[in-house]
Amino acid sequence: MGMRVDIRKNDEVQVIAGRDKGKVGRVLEVEPRKQVLFVEHVNMIKRHTRPNPSKQIRGGVLEKEGPIHISNVALLCSDCGPTRLQHREKAEGRKVRVCVKCGKVLDK
Ligand SMILES: [Zn+2]
Repeated sequence: MGMRVDIRKNDEVQVIAGRDKGKVGRVLEVEPRKQVLFVEHVNMIKRHTRPNPSKQIRGGVLEKEGPIHISNVALLCSDCGPTRLQHREKAEGRKVRVCVKCGKVLDK
């Protein structure tokens, strides 16, 4: 059983728990099944790669974003900072995500 993933690719989020607490970044990818997401320049992990000249890979240490559990991040509201979401139905029947604190629509 998992919680609903309300955070989407390209959202601006803040890390609220863990090693990178306080960091802000853009969501690169969301994996709802694993309940994780990847945030630009956050939770960087080192990967050692072997040189492979046929693929033009030099080898060495490569840094890339590691997965973060969705419960460890919060969407950023430009007025309130890290916040929780609420869904509201608009007149046309389309659902939008709004900030629970100020009611601002957070969908672009
Ligand atoms: Zn707000």
